[in-house]
Amino acid sequence: MSAGVKVLPLGGLGEIGKNMTVVEHDGRIVVVDVGLRFPTPEMVGIDLVLPDFSYLRERARDIEAIVITHGHEDHIGALPWVIRELAEQHEPPPVYGGPLTVAMAESKLDEHRLKNVELIELDPGEAVDLGPFQMEMVHMTHSIPDSCAVALGTELGTVLLTGDYKFDQTPVDGSPADVSRLAELGREGVLLLCGDSTNVDRGGFSSSESQVGRHLQETFSRCEGRIVVTSFASNIHRVQQVVDAAEALDRKVVLVGRSMRKNVSIGRRLGHIDIPEGMLVGPRELTDFPDDRMVIISTGSQGEPLSALRRMAYRDHPQVQLKDGDTVVFSATPVPGNERAVNETIDRLYHIGCDVITARDAPVHASGHGHAEEVKLMLNLVKPRYVMPVHGDFKRLRLHAELAESVGVDPDAIFQADNGLPLLIDERGARLGQRERSGMIFVDGVEIGDVADVALRDRRMLSADGIFVVVVTIAEQDGSSVADPEVIFRGVPFLDQAGELVEEIRRAARETLERAAAEEGIREIDLLQQMLHDDLAKLVYDRLRRRPMVLPVIIEI
Ligand SMILES: [Zn+2]
Ligand SMILES: [Zn+2]
Repeated sequence: MSAGVKVLPLGGLGEIGKNMTVVEHDGRIVVVDVGLRFPTPEMVGIDLVLPDFSYLRERARDIEAIVITHGHEDHIGALPWVIRELAEQHEPPPVYGGPLTVAMAESKLDEHRLKNVELIELDPGEAVDLGPFQMEMVHMTHSIPDSCAVALGTELGTVLLTGDYKFDQTPVDGSPADVSRLAELGREGVLLLCGDSTNVDRGGFSSSESQVGRHLQETFSRCEGRIVVTSFASNIHRVQQVVDAAEALDRKVVLVGRSMRKNVSIGRRLGHIDIPEGMLVGPRELTDFPDDRMVIISTGSQGEPLSALRRMAYRDHPQVQLKDGDTVVFSATPVPGNERAVNETIDRLYHIGCDVITARDAPVHASGHGHAEEVKLMLNLVKPRYVMPVHGDFKRLRLHAELAESVGVDPDAIFQADNGLPLLIDERGARLGQRERSGMIFVDGVEIGDVADVALRDRRMLSADGIFVVVVTIAEQDGSSVADPEVIFRGVPFLDQAGELVEEIRRAARETLERAAAEEGIREIDLLQQMLHDDLAKLVYDRLRRRPMVLPVIIEI
């Protein structure tokens, strides 16, 4: 009897974001996608949310490869953290993806100073052996170039993970999804289909990305002042269409926001985006041109707290001061969970006197995810033996299951799983297995980004949770604590057992200093400060479940 196949989702099911799936066969593992999620407004002080990938930590030696379907944060964002952890156990696995995906992975790993990771560009249709798997990527259309489905061939049949997709018949780059390869895989035998559920609740077909361009141009033509367009920085074809519309109306283009500049530069290098000579001007040259000659392309379509548009809306952007007569076009819709932040941003823009146009006012956005009919088309093309809907909240996973049933998939062959709940398939059939560890890992602390980002983050923390200042006095000779640490706090909410906690902080500070001096011989003030901060912030979080700023001050005598 041949070995079975285990498919374990570690993220992306029953939630929006942090997509990650482990496919296991014959003791070997291929990880498809390593995404992250952005925190909800309640997670104050948290910058990112990663899937709990403890399962992989224990199996680091068995991982053949990480395959990334496309360069969106909910599929690639956790890569640096996953690689760093795996590298502690074993040589990190190679990372496969399309050219743009690999370029984005490289830039992320560089930002985290992670070297010696093998990044492999794989063209769609080219197959590689990854241990017991035959892996192949299938070209798909989505809201970022080089999006692929991942086919993992095993002796039981192919496990096909669609990644995010739509069937766009007229994509901006002229290259529709490889429908014939999907059909061929179906004929050869697809064992399991793990399909995108994002838009299963929308009927019919999604509209084509190339439709957006002419609506943008129409919208622009009615604007008399400056135009600000915000979209996902990774939606390179959208940026291209904004550039085209601007060119048609003889407007120059300014790129604002770090990720926008970065992605456009990668996109230009790889030939996905074409900006005519002389059309791009720097943010500092904004005032050199009349208002009706400018289009500003900006990050911040999701109302992200540190994004360029949000800062413009709060009159806090160093280069762009918005004013009466400017028009802001949201060429994106809010990802579920971001509605409030987007609405706040929009209202601020009205307050300044800007006009705001969203996808509700004009068709200036097209989703990158296929609607119900496209999901059915996928099912009919690949004719899977088993179906496991992924990439969606529980409601959408259920609707996806219903769609599968409606095209004739046996209800017993459809599995509504959950993060941590594996599907086991062997020659006898398929069933859900024992729950594995899964969940969320919080990342606190902006490791990358500029100083302005950090300043803003500090201000956010202070306003929400207050501050603890811990003053310690140490001896110059040996770093030992020579006076009782002093603890001062301001603006910390719900602090009824203040006395107790202050005493605990004092004790913890002394312990940290002792540990630093005795065990590790650490004398450098910066390092001591870092250690104190980490230990005390953890203690405060454990006690209060909030994250006030913790500021250690060290006096040497
Ligand atoms: Zn996604
Ligand atoms: Zn995506």
